[in-house]
Parts: sequence; structure tokens; C-alpha cells
Amino acid sequence: MTRWIDRFLDPITMYRLVLYYLVAMLAAAFMLGFFKIVPHDPTAIAFSAVLITAVCWISNEIFARVFKVPANSESIYITALILMLILNPVTAADAKGVGVLIAASVWAMASKYIFAVRGQHLFNPAAVAVALTALLLDHPASWWVGGNLPLLPVVLIGGLLVVRKLRRFDLVAVFMLTAVATSLATAAPADYGMVLSEALKSSPILFFAFVMLTEPLTAPTRPLPRLVFAALVGFLFAPNVHIGSFYFTPELALLVGNLFAYAAGPRGRFVLTLERIERSAADSYDFIFRSPRRLAFQAGQYLEWTLGLDHPDNRGNRRYFTVASAPGESSVRLGVKFYRQSSAFKRALALMSPGDTIHAAQVAGNFTLPADPRAKLAFIAGGIGITPFRSMLRELIDRDEARSITVLYGVGQPDHIAYRDVLDEAQARLGISTVYAVARGAEPGQYPGRIDEQLIREAIPDYRERIFYISGSQAMVQSVRKALIGMGIHRMRIKTDFFPGLA
Ligand SMILES: Cc1cc2nc3c(=O)[nH]c(=O)nc-3n(C[C@H](O)[C@H](O)[C@H](O)COP(=O)(O)OP(=O)(O)OC[C@H]3O[C@@H](n4cnc5c(N)ncnc54)[C@H](O)[C@@H]3O)c2cc1C
Repeated sequence: MTRWIDRFLDPITMYRLVLYYLVAMLAAAFMLGFFKIVPHDPTAIAFSAVLITAVCWISNEIFARVFKVPANSESIYITALILMLILNPVTAADAKGVGVLIAASVWAMASKYIFAVRGQHLFNPAAVAVALTALLLDHPASWWVGGNLPLLPVVLIGGLLVVRKLRRFDLVAVFMLTAVATSLATAAPADYGMVLSEALKSSPILFFAFVMLTEPLTAPTRPLPRLVFAALVGFLFAPNVHIGSFYFTPELALLVGNLFAYAAGPRGRFVLTLERIERSAADSYDFIFRSPRRLAFQAGQYLEWTLGLDHPDNRGNRRYFTVASAPGESSVRLGVKFYRQSSAFKRALALMSPGDTIHAAQVAGNFTLPADPRAKLAFIAGGIGITPFRSMLRELIDRDEARSITVLYGVGQPDHIAYRDVLDEAQARLGISTVYAVARGAEPGQYPGRIDEQLIREAIPDYRERIFYISGSQAMVQSVRKALIGMGIHRMRIKTDFFPGLA
């Protein structure tokens, strides 16, 4: 079942999926409104949707130009849709209501640029907007999407798909458990039943958890801070939590959490300048960038890369890519494979010339070397999945640190092999050998075929003692992982690289 779901989710980028989810909720509310199944007037929903979208789009366009930042159209629409779903819809006749929606839309967009440190915003834009409308205009969010039982199936099914795509079940589960446990702890035992049914049926808890808590740029990326963030927001989210006479609202709980997320791992956006492009294999190129300041990351981690595209396709203008360079290298290297029909993002990347810039943010990922240098490892790469291993091996060479590692590298044909220089140097200087599995036209010394159980047994006789790292296409990662589990390797000893959005 999960495999089927992943296959469905794979071609959809993370931002696109959230966008579809929010549109589905709004469309469902609109249709149910016609039949009076939800209390909101469909004309008001339609009017508010057009108004919020237009104001968000125009104000973001202005801020993006003033701050000279490539605008992400998907982000604008996501924030706009969230505002539509949590602020009561209004009609054109309601002048005050129209003013509130305009102010909220402008404030959401402004917050991304004004409350930003090193080019990265601190707070969830939609949460800032509704906190301000409550404070300054006495018009709090109604969170109407959460209080409508008929919308629950759409909220739940779409939300679970989003959480699966993001791999953030830990975040959502800890938040919900803490919020519900705190609500119960602050209620009288006789009210427990009511508290539980309120939480699930008529509070925004699910919508908030699936869409707002998961916002990638304002939540911690490392597992432990992420769980603390979830627990903190969950605790403050519970309705009876207060400091003196001050009661938290969902948006205030989230803003406090955003501050914690920043303190737990200050991040920033980098504007990287292209120095040169190198061909790494027949179908792959390395883009080598200069960074204005040192990029702190661990070998094997990835970045979110954003390009200003005039005509983005339906995959948007940002991608997650591993940093192929090592932390000690002076430049930042992005290794990319090109296909016959490349996306608009990759076409724009291919057209970059030295001096052009790209925006990178959000270093993340735990596909990194274990802290214990004595741990015996096996790296299994498929195609361009070699990039995190290039980073790790370059790092070990730079530190002159020999570790017990065997590399299996699978490619379609011999000229698809990338980073032979680093792999050869790792062999010569650290004794880390690489076995090449070549599906078509294998040369002497190469294993003819794909990486399979037979090759693993032959090349890594002590495979039971090793921790396996697998990086490559989803299909390759799953087939190797299955083979390893079949050979008796415990799941805990297999690490796979995961990209939140398909590259
Ligand atoms: C799972 C998921 C959940 C989401 N949940 C939410 C949500 O709850 N609420 C919401 O509002 N949106 C949400 N979004 C949408 C989107 O991710 C957010 O709006 C996001 O915060 C916008 O980030 P961005 O980098 O795309 O910003 P853009 O729209 O591209 O804005 C420009 C970026 O430039 C930065 N910047 C500012 N000043 C400078 C400068 N001087 N130099 C360089 N850069 C600068 C800004 O901080 C901002 O990050 C969600 C998206 C996903 C995928």
C-alpha cells in the first residue's frame, strides 16, 4: 500500500502536493456550500479566494522586486489558500471584512521579507498574518476549515498524503499527542469525552498539523529539535494553556515554536555565484558555485535550490539536491543528471553562465557518516545517487581519515560513471575500493548487470557486519533495500537517502 502511495506521490513535488491539497479543501467547501452542508456561502468563498490571491500575488511581486529575490509562485498560492481556509469568507458588501482580508494578505507576504534573518524568514507567514489581524483589527482567524465535519475526509486523506511525502509523521504525532494530553490534563475528568471529540471534530488541530506545522522553512530539520518543537507547539496549542490572563491561540503557539526552531538551528539563505560547469559523466554535469560565506553542513546533506524562472513548469522553480562537495572544499558543488526531456528548472540550470546566481537554503538530511569512525560501512550508489558519497569520500580524503568502507556503484553504461577521480583517490590514499556494476557494455573488471544480492555477497563478504548506505532512484533504493533485508540485514542497519521533492 505504502509503495503504491509513494509511486503516486513521487512525481509530484512537495509544494505542488500541498497546493493540490489546499485547492481540494477549498473546492470541497465551495461545493458543499451550495448544498448548505457547510455554513459558508459559496459566493463569499469565491470572492474571498479571488481577493486574497490577487492581493498576495501583487504584494509579493512588489516585495520580491524590492528585495531582489526570485519569487516562488507556489508559496504565494499556498499561503493565500491557507488564509482563505482560516479567515471567514466575506462578500464585497462587507467593507470591514474586505479590509481584513487585504491586510492579512499583505502582512503574510511582508512578513517573509521583513522578519527575515540572512534572507530567510523566521515565522510562518500565514500565522503572522492572522496573529496581526487578531491583535490590530480585532478580527481573529476562525479556522473554519477545521470546524467543519463534512470537510474532515478531505482534510484527513490529503493531510496524510502530505505527511507521507514529507516524512513528518514524527512531527505530527508528537504535536497531536502533546496537544490532546495537555487538553485532557487541563480539563475535568467528566469532560474528557467532550475534549476528545472537540479536538478531532471541531478544532483546527488536523489542518494545523498537516499544513502549518510542517511548513519546511520554519520548522527544525534535525530530528531531536523537531520533536521538541512539536511538543512545545502542541502544549501551547491546547485551549486551556495560559500565562496569567493571556491565552495562546494556534497561530501564537506556532510563532513561539518558530522562534524555538530558529534558536535550535539558525539557518539562512545563500546567494551562490556560478564559477564554472564541469562535465562529470556522459549525462551529468557539476555546477560549481562560490558562496559569500561558509556553508555549514555535513557531508551527505542536501540543500533546497531556487532559481528565478520566467516560465516555470508544473514542477515549480525549486528542487532539493545533495551538496556534492565536501564541507572543507572552498566551493559548493551541485551534481545534476540531465534527461532528454528536462524540467524547466534543469533547462534553466543548464543555461546558467559563470557569474549567474542561484538561491540555496535549508541544509538538511541525516544521510551522513556515523560518529563512530570504527563502524564498518558499505556505500551503494545508483547513477547520480553517487553525489552524497562523493561528498563523504572527499571529506575523508581531506581529513586523511581511513575508514572501513566498500563502495558499490551501479550505472547504465560505462560513460555514466561520475567522480572517478575522487573514487580513485579514495582507493589510493585510504584503501576504500569501488566496484562498478554496469548494466550495458561492462568493461573488464566491472560487474556486468545491476547491483544485486550476488554482487553484494561477492564484493562484501563481511556484509553482516556493515551499515549500508543506499542512494539512487526510489526504485533502485527499494530493490537494494529489499535484497539486503532478504539477506538478513536488520532494517536499522540500512540508511537510505530521501529527497522530499523529486529532483
Ligand atoms: C508542507 C508545506 C507547508 C506549508 N505551510 C505553510 C504555512 O503554514 N503558511 C504559509 O504561509 N506558507 C506555507 N507553505 C508555503 C511556503 O513554504 C511558505 O510560504 C514559505 O514560508 C515561503 O518560502 P519561500 O522561500 O518559498 O518564500 P518566497 O515566497 O520565495 O519568498 C521569498 C523568500 O526570500 C527571503 N528573503 C527575504 N529577504 C531577503 C533578502 N534580503 N535576500 C534574500 N532573500 C530574502 C524570504 O524570507 C523568503 O524566504 C507551506 C509549504 C509546504 C511545502
